[in-house]
Amino acid sequence: KPVIAIVGRPNVGKSTIFNRIVGERISIVEDIPGVTRDRIYSSADWLNYDFNIIDTGGIDLGDEPFLEQIRQQAEIAIDEADVIIFLANGREGVTAADEEVAKILYRAKKPVVLGVNKIDNPEMREHIYDFYALGFGEPFPISGSHGLGLGDLLDEAAKHFPKTGQKDYDEDVIKFSLIGRPNVGKSSLVNAILGEDRVIVSNIAGTTRDAIDSELTYNGDKYVIIDTAGMRKKGKVYETTEKYSVLRALRAIERSDVVLIVLDGEEGIIEQDKRIAGYAHEAGRAVVIVVNKWDAVEKDEKTMKEFEQKIREHFLFLDYAPIVFLSAKTKKRIHTLIPMINTASENHALRVETSVLNDVIMDAVAMNPTPTDKGKRLKIFYTTQVAVKPPTFVVFVNEPELMHFSYERFLENRIRDAFGFEGTPIKIYARERK
Ligand code: GDP
Repeated sequence: KPVIAIVGRPNVGKSTIFNRIVGERISIVEDIPGVTRDRIYSSADWLNYDFNIIDTGGIDLGDEPFLEQIRQQAEIAIDEADVIIFLANGREGVTAADEEVAKILYRAKKPVVLGVNKIDNPEMREHIYDFYALGFGEPFPISGSHGLGLGDLLDEAAKHFPKTGQKDYDEDVIKFSLIGRPNVGKSSLVNAILGEDRVIVSNIAGTTRDAIDSELTYNGDKYVIIDTAGMRKKGKVYETTEKYSVLRALRAIERSDVVLIVLDGEEGIIEQDKRIAGYAHEAGRAVVIVVNKWDAVEKDEKTMKEFEQKIREHFLFLDYAPIVFLSAKTKKRIHTLIPMINTASENHALRVETSVLNDVIMDAVAMNPTPTDKGKRLKIFYTTQVAVKPPTFVVFVNEPELMHFSYERFLENRIRDAFGFEGTPIKIYARERK
């Protein structure tokens, strides 16, 4: 999918525009605190365009001085996007900070579309002419608060979307990524995997922009490690800011079948780990939890069990994810990773037989009667699997509102007991039988 980034100095309305374009994307999965709020990255479909969009203004660069922050946000846009929407404020005219952003964008070899915001009515259109001076051609008048002009702006941006899709991989290739906060050992793990005896590295080539995916073969099966771009090219100033690493993680998650969530066994679990894990879950990818640096942990026979318990407490929503304790440094248990990825990936793509599925659901209902509300009982007619990656089930019922979260959860557990599905989320929707 093409990527659009919005840049511009503070208060020009970047997040208003971002929210307008993204629209109400209410998560259909359960509400994980801190995950859906405060978005800086989202997929969007506008008219016939399907793209991802970044609000660089949401990337808080800490204590850096004002101008430095704007500069870094522009650099991020240049690194990450196919097309940049440069946003200015029509009510204030061209400011020194706008010129500063423009200077950085000139140097980039990326298409830039200039949007002039806060042009809320036609009389204000004359304000846009000043903005030709920024040197990005025709300025597009828009109004974020009224939702005006966005169609034209996006039409222009879409003209610059890359023509053919980037090279993507065959269906039979298992794509996985390692995500986690900085310094948990993601790069070390990639190297450890690539260095394994049975792994044949077939190609390390830049496939998407500056991302470096590694292609490998193991037991005759093909895999690609989706690079959390920049994993191997560190050193940018903003590399360590949390929101930026989240952005990178989201982009890797999106291209993956299986996500390895990497934790630091030595430092334990922190809030940031939870947020990252929440994104993987929400995206519906298969998940394996990897506890790295296990060599550095002082341990007795209870340590692993205790750590595992902590993980289960902190990542309630990831109860389906297997956990492995290993060390990129000593290579201990590195060889178990690919088999675990295989299992998770198989389950992620698993399709079950409808008749068996309905037997399971009927047994479940017999064991634990469906909920009632105001004298009405939920009635389940039949269930069918409508999708894979992740496995998605539709339960046809009399009234969907009667399906309580807890009952859905119960059905999920019965389905898991019957079919496994280790390593993959599954989704269940209740629909009214017409
Ligand atoms: P990334 O930012 O997640 O890619 O982390 P790196 O792979 O750059 O590793 C961060 C630091 O942790 C480096 O100093 C590594 O040498 C160290 N490290 C990585 N894996 C291990 C491990 O398994 N055990 C120990 N003791 N240190 C590790």
